[in-house]
Amino acid sequence: MLRITGGKVYDPANNVHGEVRDVCIANGRVVAAVEGGRTIDARGMVVFPGGVDVHTHVAGAALNFARGLIPEQHRQAAILARTPVRRAGMGGTTPTTFATGYLYAGMGWTTVNEAAVPILSAKHTHEELRDTPIVDKTCCVLMANNEIVLDLLEAGEIERAKHVVAWNIWAAKAYGVKAVNPGGVAAWKWGKDAKTLADPVEGYKKVTPAKIISGLARIVDELGLPHPVHLHCNNLGAPGNFTTTLETMKVLEANRAHMAHLQYHAYGGEDWFSIRSEAAPIADYFNAHPNLTADAGAVLFGNTVTITADGPWQHLLHELTGKKWSNLDVENETGCGIVPYAYKQKNLVNAVQWAVGLELLLLINDPWRVFLTTDHPNGATFWRYPEIIQLLMDAEFRREQVKALPAKARERIILPDLDRQYSLSEIAIITSAGPARALGLSQKGHLGVGADADVAIYNETKDIARMFAYPRYVIKGGEIVIEEGEMRQSVEGRAFVVRPRYDEKIEEYIRPLFQQYYTMSFDNYPVELERVHGSQVRECP
Ligand SMILES: [Zn+2]
Repeated sequence: MLRITGGKVYDPANNVHGEVRDVCIANGRVVAAVEGGRTIDARGMVVFPGGVDVHTHVAGAALNFARGLIPEQHRQAAILARTPVRRAGMGGTTPTTFATGYLYAGMGWTTVNEAAVPILSAKHTHEELRDTPIVDKTCCVLMANNEIVLDLLEAGEIERAKHVVAWNIWAAKAYGVKAVNPGGVAAWKWGKDAKTLADPVEGYKKVTPAKIISGLARIVDELGLPHPVHLHCNNLGAPGNFTTTLETMKVLEANRAHMAHLQYHAYGGEDWFSIRSEAAPIADYFNAHPNLTADAGAVLFGNTVTITADGPWQHLLHELTGKKWSNLDVENETGCGIVPYAYKQKNLVNAVQWAVGLELLLLINDPWRVFLTTDHPNGATFWRYPEIIQLLMDAEFRREQVKALPAKARERIILPDLDRQYSLSEIAIITSAGPARALGLSQKGHLGVGADADVAIYNETKDIARMFAYPRYVIKGGEIVIEEGEMRQSVEGRAFVVRPRYDEKIEEYIRPLFQQYYTMSFDNYPVELERVHGSQVRECP
């Protein structure tokens, strides 16, 4: 039993905005009151629900591939030494699994959504998620280039496609559906891409990116999944792509969607020399459409490595930068590309990207619909979130940073005109309450009675970046894991899994396709539930 007393509590989901009140914990949950037990004196501190990352890349084959590609970064990386309570781990832009859990928890984040899992490597991904301590996890399976699904859309068999998608979600022991560059990754197997929404995808007559997007969004809604389709739009990173993003949002009509790393999809201009921000029209459309949520995918300057299922984009990035590149096509399901990258303040394109992420966070007026991410590790590593929080909360600090950008970049952005400053309540929303709600995790992101007792307690200081980088206490499931800034114990996280309803007979349709096309036998394909550690299964209505 635990009582946190004297702290200013920020629990926006329950309309609590900085009131001094007690938070009581028993058996891993928030309760109304406790008798006895330990007390944490949180005077001079703020009490937040544990952070929830709606879009990150922390486990699976692509991460290992990336680690192998950047030995030089690992040589420079901080090593987390072994202590009596934790294993050793490697930091850097793609930390090892153990270090990932420690680093997230060390910043006050207690739940993460692994955003891109090919079903073919889902077993491996779950093994790694299991080795990622402290944080709870969900994951999304890649579906927008799955050839079985695309063939069904080509044949107009939406109902059967729905059962196949549902079967796949359960086979992968996933939580949601991810769509990456719909049709473009399938086309990449012929060296092509899908740059327009209305034209047929390479190898198909009727299937277009628009049909894949609207089809999957509808399927996810009809299946009643807690999280909407998690959408990485076509033309990621390309100058002028904001028109594709607007078109995509229109194609969705009234269906729900989560727009992933929106920063990478809000550029104007015709080429790399004329690139400019088009965050304003994206935010305007978004503000008027409550069926949508988004995460920022913000960029910070520095070294990183980019990892995405968007194979054609990664090939282009390799050609633009001359950096190492690796490509992996994942049988009938998806692809993957990896390119190490460095964002530079003096680079025009990078400066515009840096501004666009912040602009979207400042222009989207409802904090319940836009969430703090860097699309880790694509825009920056996750443990740099406190730097972004400072940029959002301190307009003066932001103006100083803008002054350091190239003059040409300052003409192409609107950030210098934006005076909005986030409040602590709004930070609690974009880092925890909002993403928990978007994921449909009703026991996360708040501190009401019955919530999982995931709590981050920070010193209230003017140095915002430092305040959020070094929590005084972090409590996960009622256990104190960080105390006085030190790790005191490691606990195991759980995995949230969704079981959508589907007709069991769909296996009779899928099995022969496996025998024909897959390298893996059908019976070896689904992930056994026992493999998913501490799984919490949620049945769909
Ligand atoms: Zn991503």
